Amino acid sequence: MVASMENAREALRATFGFDDFRGRQAEVVERTLARQSSLAVMPTGAGKSLTYQLPATMLQGCCIVISPLIALMHDQLRSARVNGIRAATLTSADADWRETQDAYRAGKLDLLYVAPERASQPAFRDFLAFSPIALFAVDEAHCVSEWGHDFRPDYRMLRPLMDAFPDVPRLALTATADRQTRGDVLAQLGIPEEGLVLAGFDRPNIRYAIRHRDNPVRQIANLMAERPGPGIVYAQTRRKVEDLAEKLARETGRTVLPYHAGLDPETRAANQAAFVASEDMVIVATVAFGMGIDKPDVRFVAHVGVPKSIEAYYQETGRAGRDGDPSAATMFWGAGDFATARARLAEVDGDRRGAERARLDALAGLVETPQCRRAVLLRHFGEDPPETCGNCDNCLDAPDVTEVTELARKLLSAVYRTGQSFGMGHLQKVLTGTEDERVRQRGHDRLSVYGIVEGEEARLLQPLGRALQARGDLVPTEHGGLALGGSAREILKGEREVAIVVPPKRQRRGRRGGDEANPVGDPLFEALRELRRELASEAQVPPYVVFHDSTLREMAASRPASMDAMSRVGGVGGKKLEAYGARFLRCIAEN
Ligand code: ADP
Ligand code: ZN
Repeated sequence: MVASMENAREALRATFGFDDFRGRQAEVVERTLARQSSLAVMPTGAGKSLTYQLPATMLQGCCIVISPLIALMHDQLRSARVNGIRAATLTSADADWRETQDAYRAGKLDLLYVAPERASQPAFRDFLAFSPIALFAVDEAHCVSEWGHDFRPDYRMLRPLMDAFPDVPRLALTATADRQTRGDVLAQLGIPEEGLVLAGFDRPNIRYAIRHRDNPVRQIANLMAERPGPGIVYAQTRRKVEDLAEKLARETGRTVLPYHAGLDPETRAANQAAFVASEDMVIVATVAFGMGIDKPDVRFVAHVGVPKSIEAYYQETGRAGRDGDPSAATMFWGAGDFATARARLAEVDGDRRGAERARLDALAGLVETPQCRRAVLLRHFGEDPPETCGNCDNCLDAPDVTEVTELARKLLSAVYRTGQSFGMGHLQKVLTGTEDERVRQRGHDRLSVYGIVEGEEARLLQPLGRALQARGDLVPTEHGGLALGGSAREILKGEREVAIVVPPKRQRRGRRGGDEANPVGDPLFEALRELRRELASEAQVPPYVVFHDSTLREMAASRPASMDAMSRVGGVGGKKLEAYGARFLRCIAEN
């Protein structure tokens, strides 16, 4: 019998408990069921795994999944098994090789996960020939391309393996967007061009916000209060990670643990495991953290400092809200972040320097824009988004754009006349005519720029200084002062206008709280969560593997009173109904 999309929808309900496909999942599933090869490019959280797991349960034979990280495989294995899918992994970390191999030969596996190193060995090819193969799924498929950011030579060896089974459809999956990599993946894996299924990159449930950093501990503590669930804070250095983790734990009384390459491996693994299992822990980490972690209920990602590029920012913030619930991505930037990064440009080779500068300019543009952040991001990835999204700081609270060309000329000439060696603090004193010992000693009170800024203008000096540093028109000197750079001379000569974005006042900002989806304080919801915690710890899996928050919310709202009603709740598939249905029904009846 040929599997149809009608069968697929039934299986979606029965196995995963979902009523409908999301985004472009249906197209990918349809192609796969028709035994056509595809490359699915979908953002993190779009639900890529379902596009091969579902056909794997429907097609005859086993789906071979190639995946680059053992941690990822084990994560997937757990989630597949609780849905009743017959899945196994063959990795160096597994002790049950013989059972797995027997199950495969006997045709009793839906999914078999292997690493590319193993998959590309001739012995593995011979082993696969023992039993029918439903599908080859190649996860993180951008690794096959040298254009991608994590080229893995072993991925190149997958082609001969798949070519040995020419009738088996191939499904490559990745979240990496750019055109060159996509073309390369298609060619390298032998997938026809019409097999490209490109989903939009928007993550509508993530609320983007970018703020100036004045007190990171308090700012993140506020964010934690707004978003009570698990969160990731990215900081630049190990020392900052340690320091922030300690201060945040003290300030908030919550569990906040550090993660960086300098910790001993056991501590690092323990902190990561605690985070994955937790419903409210915050981890402070260097960017090394996150790859290989599939935690769907991360409620916020915060950056203390400017990330490396817009690509890196999007990937890191993409770890928030994979479950589709409201989440935040908040960056706290300082002028110094750009100053340091721009200073480093000098050390970069001539050929690469232009590209690196463009990268920084793009980031500065994102940070400083008065427009919709999401629109800026999506345009960066080649999409054509609407002008406003309604779910970023600039859309929710429009900032003012102020023309400050004259003030910029005053500031830059103060920089010039004081010898290009003082920081913003000193420059402000000179410009506003502040009585100050150091100003007098240097004779800066006799300069023509002394006291030429007053009133409302004085308030704009700080944001202007930050903007000019972000744009590279003011550059840091070795001794912590500022010198002219970029377009400073054109501004001074009156050949260029300067406008800056002034964030709305704090009161306005503060009014807008989080957009948390969970009914915090609802006793039934809390009881369901408690039960989920118990079941999760019995089964030694993270709570989200039992049920997502959205499933518990639906139970709390619709109060199903029979197994039949329970089976209609989103996320309750056949296997989970059997395993947990009765206990959740009892919990609902008692609360
Ligand atoms: P990706 O691999 O694309 O980052 P995942 O496969 O981890 O995303 O899926 C993200 C989350 O979305 C998972 O928790 C999954 O259960 C959920 N999900 C996937 N497809 C659907 C769907 N059709 N309806 C509801 N939830 C879904
Ligand atoms: Zn917006």
